[in-house]
Amino acid sequence: MGVAETRIYPINTGWLEADLGTYIFWKGPAGKKYWNPVYCHYVDTGEHKILIDTGLCDEERATLYHHRCEKRGCLEVHDHLEQKLGVSCDEIDAIIFTHLHWDHVQNMKRFKNARYIAPKAEIEMAYNPLPLYYRTYECGILGIEPAYAGCVFEAVEDECEIFPGITMFHTPGHSVGHMAVTVATTAGDIVIAGDAIFVERNLDPNPAEQWRYWVPARFVNSFEGWKSVEEIDKRADYVLPCHDEAANARSHVFPYAGMPLRRRRQSIPGFKFYFGDMPANMANKIAPAMSAKEAEVFISNLVDPKDMAEY
Ligand SMILES: [Zn+2]
Repeated sequence: MGVAETRIYPINTGWLEADLGTYIFWKGPAGKKYWNPVYCHYVDTGEHKILIDTGLCDEERATLYHHRCEKRGCLEVHDHLEQKLGVSCDEIDAIIFTHLHWDHVQNMKRFKNARYIAPKAEIEMAYNPLPLYYRTYECGILGIEPAYAGCVFEAVEDECEIFPGITMFHTPGHSVGHMAVTVATTAGDIVIAGDAIFVERNLDPNPAEQWRYWVPARFVNSFEGWKSVEEIDKRADYVLPCHDEAANARSHVFPYAGMPLRRRRQSIPGFKFYFGDMPANMANKIAPAMSAKEAEVFISNLVDPKDMAEY
Protein backbone atom coordinates (compact mmCIF):
# COMPACT_ATOMS: atom_id res chain seq x y z
CA MET A 1 0.00 0.00 0.00
CA GLY A 2 0.99 3.63 -0.37
CA VAL A 3 2.69 5.49 -3.17
CA ALA A 4 3.73 2.35 -5.07
CA GLU A 5 0.13 1.22 -5.39
CA THR A 6 -1.64 4.55 -5.75
CA ARG A 7 -3.78 4.80 -8.86
CA ILE A 8 -6.00 7.65 -10.10
CA TYR A 9 -9.02 6.98 -12.32
CA PRO A 10 -10.57 10.04 -14.04
CA ILE A 11 -14.37 9.93 -14.26
CA ASN A 12 -16.12 12.09 -16.87
CA THR A 13 -19.61 12.89 -15.56
CA GLY A 14 -20.80 14.89 -18.60
CA TRP A 15 -20.28 18.00 -20.70
CA LEU A 16 -21.15 21.67 -20.13
CA GLU A 17 -21.19 24.56 -22.53
CA ALA A 18 -19.05 27.52 -21.48
CA ASP A 19 -17.55 30.60 -23.08
CA LEU A 20 -13.88 30.59 -24.06
CA GLY A 21 -13.42 34.26 -23.21
CA THR A 22 -15.35 34.61 -19.97
CA TYR A 23 -14.55 31.21 -18.45
CA ILE A 24 -11.63 29.32 -19.90
CA PHE A 25 -9.14 32.09 -20.85
CA TRP A 26 -8.78 35.64 -19.56
CA LYS A 27 -9.00 37.89 -22.66
CA GLY A 28 -9.83 34.78 -24.64
CA PRO A 29 -12.19 34.73 -27.62
CA ALA A 30 -15.41 35.91 -25.93
CA GLY A 31 -18.56 34.67 -27.62
CA LYS A 32 -16.94 31.45 -28.81
CA LYS A 33 -18.63 28.50 -27.12
CA TYR A 34 -16.67 25.57 -25.83
CA TRP A 35 -18.00 22.27 -24.56
CA ASN A 36 -15.97 21.17 -21.58
CA PRO A 37 -16.09 17.88 -19.72
CA VAL A 38 -16.68 17.71 -15.96
CA TYR A 39 -14.29 15.22 -14.41
CA CYS A 40 -13.96 13.98 -10.88
CA HIS A 41 -11.32 11.50 -9.75
CA TYR A 42 -11.26 8.18 -7.94
CA VAL A 43 -8.03 7.49 -6.06
CA ASP A 44 -7.17 4.03 -4.77
CA THR A 45 -4.06 3.94 -2.56
CA GLY A 46 -4.33 0.25 -1.79
CA GLU A 47 -5.35 1.25 1.73
CA HIS A 48 -7.97 3.92 1.08
CA LYS A 49 -10.60 4.50 -1.57
CA ILE A 50 -11.09 8.22 -2.08
CA LEU A 51 -13.04 10.46 -4.38
CA ILE A 52 -11.80 13.91 -5.26
CA ASP A 53 -14.97 15.85 -6.13
CA THR A 54 -18.11 14.10 -7.39
CA GLY A 55 -18.99 15.95 -10.61
CA LEU A 56 -22.31 16.51 -12.33
CA CYS A 57 -25.94 15.59 -11.78
CA ASP A 58 -28.29 14.60 -14.60
CA GLU A 59 -28.65 16.61 -17.80
CA GLU A 60 -32.07 18.09 -17.02
CA ARG A 61 -31.16 19.47 -13.60
CA ALA A 62 -27.83 20.87 -14.81
CA THR A 63 -29.40 22.61 -17.81
CA LEU A 64 -32.37 23.92 -15.81
CA TYR A 65 -30.31 25.66 -13.14
CA HIS A 66 -26.91 26.21 -14.74
CA HIS A 67 -25.34 25.66 -18.16
CA ARG A 68 -26.43 23.65 -21.18
CA CYS A 69 -25.46 20.09 -20.37
CA GLU A 70 -25.06 16.94 -22.45
CA LYS A 71 -24.21 13.59 -20.90
CA ARG A 72 -22.98 12.04 -24.18
CA GLY A 73 -23.07 8.61 -22.58
CA CYS A 74 -21.27 9.65 -19.39
CA LEU A 75 -22.61 8.28 -16.12
CA GLU A 76 -23.00 9.99 -12.77
CA VAL A 77 -20.18 9.24 -10.39
CA HIS A 78 -21.81 6.44 -8.37
CA ASP A 79 -22.93 4.57 -11.50
CA HIS A 80 -19.52 4.98 -13.13
CA LEU A 81 -17.76 3.60 -10.04
CA GLU A 82 -20.03 0.56 -9.85
CA GLN A 83 -20.42 -0.22 -13.53
CA LYS A 84 -17.00 0.69 -14.93
CA LEU A 85 -14.64 0.25 -11.98
CA GLY A 86 -16.42 -2.34 -9.83
CA VAL A 87 -16.35 -0.15 -6.73
CA SER A 88 -19.43 0.11 -4.57
CA CYS A 89 -20.49 3.43 -3.05
CA ASP A 90 -20.17 1.97 0.43
CA GLU A 91 -16.46 1.28 -0.07
CA ILE A 92 -15.54 4.96 -0.44
CA ASP A 93 -13.72 6.14 2.73
CA ALA A 94 -13.61 9.85 2.00
CA ILE A 95 -14.49 12.53 -0.50
CA ILE A 96 -12.06 15.42 -0.73
CA PHE A 97 -13.63 18.51 -2.30
CA THR A 98 -11.44 21.03 -4.12
CA HIS A 99 -14.30 23.51 -3.73
CA LEU A 100 -18.08 23.36 -3.39
CA HIS A 101 -19.30 24.72 -6.72
CA TRP A 102 -22.37 22.82 -7.92
CA ASP A 103 -20.56 20.83 -10.64
CA HIS A 104 -18.11 19.32 -8.12
CA VAL A 105 -20.47 18.05 -5.42
CA GLN A 106 -23.43 16.22 -6.96
CA ASN A 107 -24.46 12.84 -5.54
CA MET A 108 -22.19 13.11 -2.52
CA LYS A 109 -24.90 11.70 -0.25
CA ARG A 110 -24.72 8.37 -2.11
CA PHE A 111 -21.47 7.69 -0.28
CA LYS A 112 -22.78 6.88 3.16
CA ASN A 113 -19.52 5.73 4.73
CA ALA A 114 -17.43 8.59 3.41
CA ARG A 115 -15.91 11.45 5.33
CA TYR A 116 -16.68 14.74 3.56
CA ILE A 117 -13.52 16.84 3.62
CA ALA A 118 -13.53 20.39 2.25
CA PRO A 119 -11.71 23.71 2.59
CA LYS A 120 -13.09 25.73 5.51
CA ALA A 121 -13.66 28.89 3.49
CA GLU A 122 -15.65 26.91 0.90
CA ILE A 123 -17.93 25.44 3.54
CA GLU A 124 -18.61 28.92 4.92
CA MET A 125 -19.28 30.27 1.43
CA ALA A 126 -21.55 27.35 0.52
CA TYR A 127 -23.79 27.90 3.50
CA ASN A 128 -23.81 31.67 3.16
CA PRO A 129 -22.86 32.60 -0.41
CA LEU A 130 -22.21 36.13 -1.56
CA PRO A 131 -25.38 36.83 -3.58
CA LEU A 132 -23.37 36.88 -6.84
CA TYR A 133 -22.72 33.19 -6.26
CA TYR A 134 -26.15 31.99 -5.10
CA ARG A 135 -26.49 29.92 -8.26
CA THR A 136 -22.93 28.61 -8.28
CA TYR A 137 -23.45 27.12 -4.81
CA GLU A 138 -27.11 26.21 -5.44
CA CYS A 139 -28.30 28.39 -2.59
CA GLY A 140 -31.70 27.51 -1.14
CA ILE A 141 -32.87 31.11 -1.62
CA LEU A 142 -33.27 30.25 -5.34
CA GLY A 143 -35.44 27.27 -4.50
CA ILE A 144 -32.69 24.75 -5.30
CA GLU A 145 -31.75 22.06 -2.80
CA PRO A 146 -27.95 21.85 -2.82
CA ALA A 147 -26.29 18.44 -3.00
CA TYR A 148 -24.74 18.94 0.43
CA ALA A 149 -27.91 19.88 2.30
CA GLY A 150 -27.70 18.28 5.73
CA CYS A 151 -24.15 16.96 5.28
CA VAL A 152 -21.47 17.46 7.91
CA PHE A 153 -18.09 18.46 6.53
CA GLU A 154 -14.64 18.17 8.04
CA ALA A 155 -13.07 21.59 7.51
CA VAL A 156 -9.48 21.98 6.35
CA GLU A 157 -7.89 25.32 7.09
CA ASP A 158 -4.18 24.80 6.42
CA GLU A 159 -2.19 22.78 3.91
CA CYS A 160 -2.56 19.26 5.13
CA GLU A 161 -1.66 15.63 4.27
CA ILE A 162 -5.10 14.01 4.49
CA PHE A 163 -3.87 10.47 3.83
CA PRO A 164 -0.25 9.41 3.31
CA GLY A 165 0.83 10.93 -0.01
CA ILE A 166 -2.39 12.91 -0.51
CA THR A 167 -2.04 16.59 0.30
CA MET A 168 -4.47 19.49 0.03
CA PHE A 169 -2.87 22.89 -0.62
CA HIS A 170 -4.31 26.38 -1.06
CA THR A 171 -5.22 27.48 -4.58
CA PRO A 172 -7.83 30.23 -4.08
CA GLY A 173 -8.85 32.69 -6.77
CA HIS A 174 -11.36 30.70 -8.81
CA SER A 175 -13.34 30.52 -5.56
CA VAL A 176 -12.61 31.84 -2.08
CA GLY A 177 -11.29 28.67 -0.45
CA HIS A 178 -10.29 26.46 -3.37
CA MET A 179 -7.64 23.82 -2.58
CA ALA A 180 -5.94 21.50 -5.07
CA VAL A 181 -4.77 18.00 -4.19
CA THR A 182 -1.33 16.51 -4.75
CA VAL A 183 -1.26 12.74 -5.14
CA ALA A 184 2.22 11.24 -4.79
CA THR A 185 2.75 8.42 -7.31
CA THR A 186 5.65 6.36 -8.62
CA ALA A 187 5.80 8.65 -11.67
CA GLY A 188 5.88 11.86 -9.61
CA ASP A 189 3.41 14.27 -8.09
CA ILE A 190 0.07 14.42 -9.89
CA VAL A 191 -1.91 17.53 -8.99
CA ILE A 192 -5.68 17.27 -9.22
CA ALA A 193 -6.28 20.93 -9.88
CA GLY A 194 -10.05 21.32 -9.51
CA ASP A 195 -10.85 24.58 -11.29
CA ALA A 196 -7.62 26.43 -10.37
CA ILE A 197 -6.88 25.90 -14.03
CA PHE A 198 -9.48 24.67 -16.51
CA VAL A 199 -7.18 23.25 -19.19
CA GLU A 200 -3.46 22.50 -19.55
CA ARG A 201 -3.15 25.45 -21.93
CA ASN A 202 -3.73 27.79 -18.93
CA LEU A 203 -0.18 26.91 -17.78
CA ASP A 204 1.45 28.28 -20.94
CA PRO A 205 1.88 31.89 -22.07
CA ASN A 206 -0.45 34.39 -23.68
CA PRO A 207 2.12 35.74 -26.15
CA ALA A 208 0.08 38.77 -27.28
CA GLU A 209 -0.14 40.07 -23.70
CA GLN A 210 3.27 38.86 -22.53
CA TRP A 211 1.71 36.74 -19.74
CA ARG A 212 3.71 33.72 -18.53
CA TYR A 213 0.39 31.94 -17.94
CA TRP A 214 -2.86 32.29 -19.88
CA VAL A 215 -4.95 32.06 -16.75
CA PRO A 216 -8.71 31.36 -16.68
CA ALA A 217 -11.22 34.20 -16.65
CA ARG A 218 -13.64 32.82 -14.06
CA PHE A 219 -12.27 34.23 -10.80
CA VAL A 220 -13.36 35.87 -7.56
CA ASN A 221 -9.80 37.17 -7.09
CA SER A 222 -7.33 37.47 -9.96
CA PHE A 223 -4.31 38.16 -7.74
CA GLU A 224 -4.82 34.95 -5.77
CA GLY A 225 -5.77 33.12 -8.95
CA TRP A 226 -2.48 33.90 -10.68
CA LYS A 227 -0.57 32.96 -7.52
CA SER A 228 -2.37 29.61 -7.42
CA VAL A 229 -1.40 28.85 -11.02
CA GLU A 230 2.24 29.53 -10.07
CA GLU A 231 1.83 27.23 -7.08
CA ILE A 232 0.55 24.38 -9.27
CA ASP A 233 3.39 24.98 -11.73
CA LYS A 234 5.88 24.57 -8.86
CA ARG A 235 4.39 21.36 -7.52
CA ALA A 236 3.06 19.31 -10.41
CA ASP A 237 4.78 16.69 -12.56
CA TYR A 238 1.39 16.11 -14.19
CA VAL A 239 -1.87 18.06 -13.85
CA LEU A 240 -5.42 16.72 -13.97
CA PRO A 241 -7.75 19.74 -14.26
CA CYS A 242 -11.47 18.98 -13.86
CA HIS A 243 -12.49 20.43 -17.24
CA ASP A 244 -9.80 19.24 -19.67
CA GLU A 245 -10.46 16.21 -21.82
CA ALA A 246 -6.93 15.91 -23.22
CA ALA A 247 -5.25 15.75 -19.80
CA ASN A 248 -7.74 13.22 -18.39
CA ALA A 249 -8.27 11.00 -21.41
CA ARG A 250 -4.64 10.09 -22.16
CA SER A 251 -5.21 6.98 -20.08
CA HIS A 252 -8.00 5.41 -18.04
CA VAL A 253 -5.60 5.21 -15.11
CA PHE A 254 -2.72 7.36 -13.83
CA PRO A 255 0.21 7.04 -13.60
CA TYR A 256 0.96 4.98 -16.70
CA ALA A 257 4.08 4.01 -18.62
CA GLY A 258 5.17 6.79 -20.96
CA MET A 259 3.10 9.46 -19.21
CA PRO A 260 4.28 12.89 -20.46
CA LEU A 261 5.71 14.65 -17.43
CA ARG A 262 5.75 18.42 -17.36
CA ARG A 263 8.64 20.74 -16.54
CA ARG A 264 8.15 22.59 -13.28
CA ARG A 265 8.56 26.36 -13.09
CA GLN A 266 10.33 26.73 -16.38
CA SER A 267 11.67 30.19 -17.18
CA ILE A 268 10.85 31.40 -20.68
CA PRO A 269 12.79 34.44 -21.85
CA GLY A 270 10.51 37.49 -22.01
CA PHE A 271 7.82 36.07 -19.69
CA LYS A 272 7.90 36.84 -15.98
CA PHE A 273 6.77 34.94 -12.94
CA TYR A 274 5.20 37.26 -10.38
CA PHE A 275 5.39 35.45 -7.03
CA GLY A 276 8.21 33.84 -5.06
CA ASP A 277 10.74 31.25 -6.12
CA MET A 278 10.50 27.50 -5.66
CA PRO A 279 10.42 26.52 -1.98
CA ALA A 280 13.86 25.36 -0.81
CA ASN A 281 12.73 21.74 -0.49
CA MET A 282 11.69 21.69 -4.15
CA ALA A 283 14.57 23.69 -5.61
CA ASN A 284 16.02 20.57 -7.25
CA LYS A 285 12.79 20.10 -9.25
CA ILE A 286 13.05 23.37 -11.18
CA ALA A 287 13.41 22.94 -14.95
CA PRO A 288 16.35 24.55 -16.75
CA ALA A 289 15.44 27.85 -18.40
CA MET A 290 14.61 27.81 -22.11
CA SER A 291 17.11 29.41 -24.43
CA ALA A 292 15.86 32.30 -26.58
CA LYS A 293 15.82 30.01 -29.61
CA GLU A 294 13.89 27.24 -27.81
CA ALA A 295 11.43 29.83 -26.57
CA GLU A 296 10.82 31.13 -30.08
CA VAL A 297 9.91 27.65 -31.32
CA PHE A 298 7.84 26.87 -28.20
CA ILE A 299 5.81 30.07 -28.42
CA SER A 300 5.18 29.72 -32.13
CA ASN A 301 3.78 26.22 -31.56
CA LEU A 302 1.32 27.18 -28.81
CA VAL A 303 -2.34 26.71 -29.60
CA ASP A 304 -4.32 29.95 -29.77
CA PRO A 305 -7.60 29.54 -27.86
CA LYS A 306 -9.51 30.97 -30.83
CA ASP A 307 -8.40 27.90 -32.80
CA MET A 308 -9.46 25.40 -30.14
CA ALA A 309 -11.95 22.78 -31.26
CA GLU A 310 -15.44 23.30 -29.89
CA TYR A 311 -16.12 19.57 -29.48
ZN1 LIG B 1 -15.68 25.87 -9.92
